[in-house]
Order: sequence, then structure tokens, then C-alpha cells
Amino acid sequence: MKVNGNIKNIKKYIIDQLETVYDMQVPIGQISTNEINEQIVSITELLGREVAVYINRQGKVVQVSVGDTATVDLPEIKERTSALRLSGIRCIHTHPSADTTLSDPDLSSLRRMRFDVMVAIGRKGSDIIASMAFFTGEFDEGGLAQLQGIGPVEASTLHKVSLTYLTTIINKKLSRDTLKETVDEEERAILAGIELSGKRSAWSIEESLEELSQLAQTAGAVVVGTVTQKKDRPDSALFLGKGKIQEISLLIQEVNANLVIMDDELSPSQQHNLEQLLGVKILDRTALILDIFTQRARSSEGKLQVELAQLRYTLPRIGGQGLVMSRLGGGIGTRGPGETKLEVDKRRIYTKIHEIEKQIEQLKKHRTLHRAGRKASRIPTVSLVGYTNAGKSTLLNTLTNAGVFAEDKLFATLDPTTRLVVLPNKQKILLTDTVGFIQKLPHHLVSAFHATLEEVQEADLLLHVVDSSQENYQLQMAAVIDVLKDLKAEDKPTFNIFNKIDKVEDDSFFAKLAAEEHALGISAKNNLNLDTLLQKIATYFSAQNQRLQLLIPFNEGEKITQLHDAATVEATEYTEHGTLLTVTLPLEKIGQFEKYKVGDND
Ligand code: GDP
Ligand code: MG
Repeated sequence: MKVNGNIKNIKKYIIDQLETVYDMQVPIGQISTNEINEQIVSITELLGREVAVYINRQGKVVQVSVGDTATVDLPEIKERTSALRLSGIRCIHTHPSADTTLSDPDLSSLRRMRFDVMVAIGRKGSDIIASMAFFTGEFDEGGLAQLQGIGPVEASTLHKVSLTYLTTIINKKLSRDTLKETVDEEERAILAGIELSGKRSAWSIEESLEELSQLAQTAGAVVVGTVTQKKDRPDSALFLGKGKIQEISLLIQEVNANLVIMDDELSPSQQHNLEQLLGVKILDRTALILDIFTQRARSSEGKLQVELAQLRYTLPRIGGQGLVMSRLGGGIGTRGPGETKLEVDKRRIYTKIHEIEKQIEQLKKHRTLHRAGRKASRIPTVSLVGYTNAGKSTLLNTLTNAGVFAEDKLFATLDPTTRLVVLPNKQKILLTDTVGFIQKLPHHLVSAFHATLEEVQEADLLLHVVDSSQENYQLQMAAVIDVLKDLKAEDKPTFNIFNKIDKVEDDSFFAKLAAEEHALGISAKNNLNLDTLLQKIATYFSAQNQRLQLLIPFNEGEKITQLHDAATVEATEYTEHGTLLTVTLPLEKIGQFEKYKVGDND
């Protein structure tokens, strides 16, 4: 390859040395190498002129030229530069003096060519030092793209900056800020999972990846490939085996992927190693779920919970990522609190975690009060639980016209919604929608969602909503029961509500259903069998409660106070013999008021 620029009068052996730079490969995601830095600084010392190297995202040197950066003309870039995107090429160049301050021509060339980064290097004593500038992705009021600088630092320090992250963030921000309406940069994901050869898990690898695929789509990614590997246990350094990683690396090129999602939680070092090797963003199941949670949390408490979970997840992962915090901005796994919070150091994250915990504690007290209020009113609570996407929110909506967000996506609901439902016998109940459960939902995420899950613990009755159209509905039920066990709620009275029966074609399913005691088939969406459901709930609670009329003499006013605590008081009338109350009373309380009974009202 030819050396560009003004090379007249340059000795042949120096030209040869410049040409060797074309053969120097840079690891993907790293800005430059010591070898390249040393070579071009040495040549500059011989020539007394600037030398510039242009490198693409594959780590290949695409051009070497002599002369200042302002005049360079790169054919690679012409075709690709877009106002919204970085060009995918970076410039590493020398300053003949040890002063690496980026000059105005350097910065205008950075803007014009939309370089990923612009780096100036020079020798100071025995060290090579560097200054770097790059787009922040923000624009000032006049619409001028803002730049940020780092340095001077030792040039080798820049190897710690993850170029992959930096450019993802910048691109994301550029396109977002310039054209609010444009679609985000498409996230093209490869999914990868391990089929553990030792113990058989109940979920097949296909089922697990199918779900991961739904999660990825919910988060907004396009799935462009899946890779699985049979293994005894995950590799401690890379999660998958070396050969598999190579396969993924090729696949990334082939299908143009920019994201790899692993089906299990990765350790921070596995994640880091994979990023270094593959040069694309690496996420795991937990990060994906967190991302969805971030997009979907609506209440202030929900948002705080997600932020907390995200900070906790991030904390062990931010060490050693160099000067530029790698997990800023840019798509799945980086949304929400991540963008601004993660640039701060660990200590500030700790402080933040502490603050959020306090705020959540406050909100919790508030909620406990509310709940105490509800308890006092003796309106029984029914909680909808079930696998994500089973139809819980749809059921709540159909029963109450609550307008709760229901969507064919995983985790459409994150915040508890409680609505009043009046049963056919006029009995009132409070119906609560909850977050959906999922297999492999990490325990620390479960604990992050106590907001909705506390409702489950407090409920008088659970409706376990099942998506009967899923082939593996039994596995989904088992996963839900696992979480209920975590919550110590597995012994609560529960009805199994088989939803989406409109989609079930197998008749034997209905025979099985009929044979089960606390089971009922419904369609929340098509309003099938919902009357029966309400009737069933009413029957359950009326077996627990009794509706009666009590006549309390005027001189026993304290009994009325007690009644208000213990029962639902539906009507109060003042007669000449005392106060006549129509109440619904739990069976176990009836004894206390037996002697005031006027006669059954039902
Ligand atoms: P949740 O995650 O359990 O709250 O589930 P959603 O209520 O958000 O519902 C998930 C998807 O299932 C939505 O697209 C609903 O329209 C759909 N769905 C809910 N109930 C039924 C049903 O009875 N029949 C059919 N065919 N689809 C349903
Ligand atoms: Mg829902």
C-alpha cells in the first residue's frame, strides 16, 4: 500500500518504514498500539514532519500519510460519512514537538471527517504521550457538535478506553439529538446459550433462547442469529469455549451484528473479556431484563427500584474500563439511569444507592399506610400473578376498564395497579396487577420488585393467570410457583386461571381442566367465562364472610367502632331501638356480634 501526502524528497528507507505500518493490526475496540505509536513517533523524529495513521473499526490501518491532518482526503470516508454518524475511522498522528495539544486544524479535521477519535502523540523524555478528542454527541445552541478532550496522558493509557462503547454512545447520541424522530441505530443481536450436558434443566435450550429472543425484541433489538454450545459448565473466562467465540466472531461479520446476548448472567470479567475479543457490546439476560424494566417502569417507586437494581448490577462491572466509562449511553443495557449515573466513580454510586434506598424506604412507609387503610376497610385483595405475557393486565382491564398498559411484550407491567371490582353479589374486592414472573429471573431482581410483590404477600387470594396457548405452560407455572416460594406466598389460596383458551385447539386440554379443582379456563381478551370467574371469587369470599344486619343499642357506641374495624359496613340507619347496620363480617368475627343479629340479609 502506498504512503500518502507530501513524500517528495523522503528517503526510500523511511518510506519503507512507513509502509510497514499498513501491516500493523490493532485489537478490535482498542484505539492504537504501542507498536504503531512508537513507529510513527520515530519516523517523525527522523523527518521532522507529522505522520498520520487512519484506522478502521476492524483495527486495520487504512491509510498512512505524511503532512498535517487538515489536508487529508480519505476515500474510505467519502462514501460513508453521514451527518448523523461517525465515519468509523480514527486518526492517530504525531506532533513533532512534545506538545500534543490538538491544534485547530486537528479539531476541524475531526469535525469534517467525523472521526471516531482524533489522537495526537509525541515523545516526552522516555515516554510517548497522547491527547485525544472526540464528539460528545451533544450540540451547542448554535447546532455545533461538541467535542471533548482527554490528556495529555501516557499514550498506553488510551488502550484502556473501549472504542466500541465510545463510538456506540456517540453515534446513538448524534442520531438522537439531530433527528429526534429517526429510528435508533438498529441493534442487531446474536443470542448465545449453553446447553448444560450434565444436569438436565426443565427448559430446553431452544425454549430458553426463544424466550431470550422475545426479551431482546421487547427491548428493541433485532435477533440476527443464535449460537448454542453443549458444555459441562460455563467457561470461567469466556462463558463459552474459545472455538465458539471464534464462530461468533465470524457470525458477527457475516450478519453485521453489533450486540451479543448471553442467556445466563455473566461475571464482570467474562463480560469484559468477551467485549475485548468480539469488539461488540455484550449483554446478559439480567442486563436485558433490567433494560426492559428501565424502559417500562412508570411510577416513581418503580423507577427508583430499577435504578437501584441497575446500579447494583453495574457496580462490580465498572472497574478497569479505563478513562471513558464504557457503559454510557447507546441502546440496550445502557438506558435510563445508566447514561448519566455511570460516569461517576464507585463511591458516588455507593452514595446514590444509599440515597435511593432511603427514598424507597419512605415510599414504602407511605404504601404501608395506604395498605393499612385498605385493611381497615376490610375489602379483600386479590392479586394477579403469572408468567409474563400471560394476560394479567388484560384481565384487569377487561374486569375494570382500568386502561392498564397491556401489550404483547414481556414485562409490559412493572408497577402495581390496584382497582376496585364489584362482584355479582355486590361484594367489593381490590384487584392488583403485578409484574410478570420469568424463569431465570435473578434473585436480586426479584427483591428489587418488592413494590409489586409485597401486594402478593398481602393478598387474600391469588389468581395465577396461565397462558394456556403456550406449549410449555406447565414449566411457566412452575417458574411462577418458584417465585411465590421466594416470596413465602406459595401457601396462599390460589385459583389457576387458564387464559387465552380461544387459542387452544387441543380438546384434551379442556378435559384436563375440568378435572382440576381450582382451575378455570377463560379468555380475558374475548371476555369468555369472566362471569364464572367473578362468581367463583364471590363464592370464595362469601364462604369467608357473612353479610348480616346488626342492631346496636345507642349506649354501646364502642361496638360500632369495633365493627368498623372488623367488617365492611354497607349501610347505617338510626332507628328508635339503636343503630341498624348492614355489614359483611369475616366468619371468625361473627361470634363477637352474634347477640346483635337481626336476621340474615342474603
Ligand atoms: P401480562 O404480561 O400478563 O400482563 O400480559 P398482557 O395482559 O400484557 O397480555 C399479553 C398479550 O396477550 C397481549 O397481547 C394480550 O392482548 C394477549 N392476550 C391477553 N388475553 C388474551 C386472550 O384471552 N386471548 C388471546 N388470544 N390473547 C390474549
Ligand atoms: Mg402486565
